[in-house]
Formats: sequence, structure tokens, C-alpha cells
Amino acid sequence: MKLVTCMYEGRTLAGLWLDGRVLDLQAAGRRLNEAADLGSMLAIVRGGDASLAALERAASRSDEYPDAWLDAAQVRFLAPIPVPVRNVFCVGRNYVDHIKEGFATTGKEMRLPEVPQFFTKATGAVNAPDGDVRLDPRLTSLLDYEVELAVVIGRGGRDIPAASAFEHVFGYTVANDFTARDLQRRHEQWFKGKSLDTTCPLGPCIVDRAEIGDPGTLELSLTVNGDERQRARAAQMIFDIPTIIASLSAGLTLEPGDIIATGTPSGVGFAMKPPRSLKEGDLVVSKIDRIGELRNRIVGVQA
Ligand code: MG
Repeated sequence: MKLVTCMYEGRTLAGLWLDGRVLDLQAAGRRLNEAADLGSMLAIVRGGDASLAALERAASRSDEYPDAWLDAAQVRFLAPIPVPVRNVFCVGRNYVDHIKEGFATTGKEMRLPEVPQFFTKATGAVNAPDGDVRLDPRLTSLLDYEVELAVVIGRGGRDIPAASAFEHVFGYTVANDFTARDLQRRHEQWFKGKSLDTTCPLGPCIVDRAEIGDPGTLELSLTVNGDERQRARAAQMIFDIPTIIASLSAGLTLEPGDIIATGTPSGVGFAMKPPRSLKEGDLVVSKIDRIGELRNRIVGVQA
């Protein structure tokens, strides 16, 4: 199932995205007298298996309520969780080739992380799948892209063992961890350079865990103005999703709706020779097969 959050006639709704149409899940649930709250993505995620069962009933009987179907061209897709409950968790340096290209810019000997490197992006950075990304030349002259597979946590928990980690995954979405490299370096801590408004587009949908199966088979890619810059399989991650969840949840309770971006492969702009920054007007397309794509235009902010 592809689940979306979208705006329609001024209303934000959770929907099932199928064949160019979006089923308004709250409207469908009402017709079925569903007890489960299908009015928002967070409510659906928190509802767990009961929500998923209600979604399946709503989808299987959707012919009974044709007016609950909206033309996808008539809605505006938002981030699947437009306002996460807390910061977006992120893993840094999780693909060998990306680490290699990063070290190549420093001349230092490459060292692989022994445990996942975690940081977060502020909730205000979250952006729609087709949202403009701000480029403020007063703040950065090295805005960069990072396509990433993001995990949406379903069932929360602390000290989650890797062996049962997938039971805590609700689904998957596409993220771009846009980064102001110069701020990242200047502040000697990644948070500031990774948390500017609009720099965390998510979407266009969440695909549930059962439909994806093995997330290692997913292929990530990214283009800038049509030129391919990044391409890799999620299986190339140094720390796989169960390891990430086990490590992050050790002594730290994960909550339903938490988002974890799992790191980016090689091909980022700062490691190119010479380094390349995103420019006003650039179109960045971040794609993961079987989930969808983000299309983000870089928009200059006037002083
Ligand atoms: Mg990243």
C-alpha cells in the first residue's frame, strides 16, 4: 500500500494512493463505521495492525464509495508525516563509497565507523515531496543533496533487538538530507547545517513494510537537472536497518511515527572535483524504486 498525506480543498487528509487516484481514508472509514482513526498518518501509524487491517477493508470495498476517491492531480502531496512529533533521526556515513569520497577531500586515511553515527534534523526542515528548497546565499555557498531511504517506525520500543527490529517498522519513504556543507563544518556539529527550513523533503508516500519485503533490494538514485549523480542499492549500507534500529533504540525509546533516514551513497556535490554546490533554479530528483520520487527546485532567498 502507498499511503500519502495530501491537501484537498484546504483540508489535510490521509489517503491511499492507487492508479492515479487517492482514496480519502477518513471518508472511507466513516462509511465502513471503522473504529480505527484513519484521519491522519500519525493516527494510522499509532493504530498499528488494527489500522492496517482497516486500511485493507477500506481499499477492498472502495467501489462502494466512489465519491471518496480523489483525482491525484487535484491534490497537493505533503510529506507523509508533515509535522513529525520530534526531530528526524539520521545516520551519517553509512555507505563505503560515500565515506571514501568524503575522506578523499581531506587527504586523510579512510576510517569506517564502528557504530552508526547518529544526528537529527529539526522538524521544521521537513518539506513536501515537490517543495521548493531555500538557498540563502547569506548562510551557505555549498548547499548539497543526499538521497536516502527513510524508515518510519510503527511499534515503539526501547532496547529493540536486531532480530525483531523489522516488527517495529511501519514502512519506508524517500528522504533528501539537503545539507549546507559550510555550516556543517563551521559549527563543528552537523545539526545546524542539516536543519535549515525546507531541507528535509519526504515522500511522496509511505509504502508499508509487508509490500517492500527486503528493503536491501531497493535502489536509490538522484539527478540534478537530469544528470545522474547518485545510484546505489540499500543493501550497500554498512549498518543495515535492524542494526540501526537496535543501536538507536538502546536506552532510547523509539515512538510510533519516528523517522530514521539511513544515510546517503556516493555522488554528493562537495566530493566532486571541483566541488559543486546546488544553484538557484536547479531541479533535484531523488528516487527509490517501488516508493516514488521527490522533485525539489532550489529557490534563491533574497537578502
Ligand atoms: Mg545524510
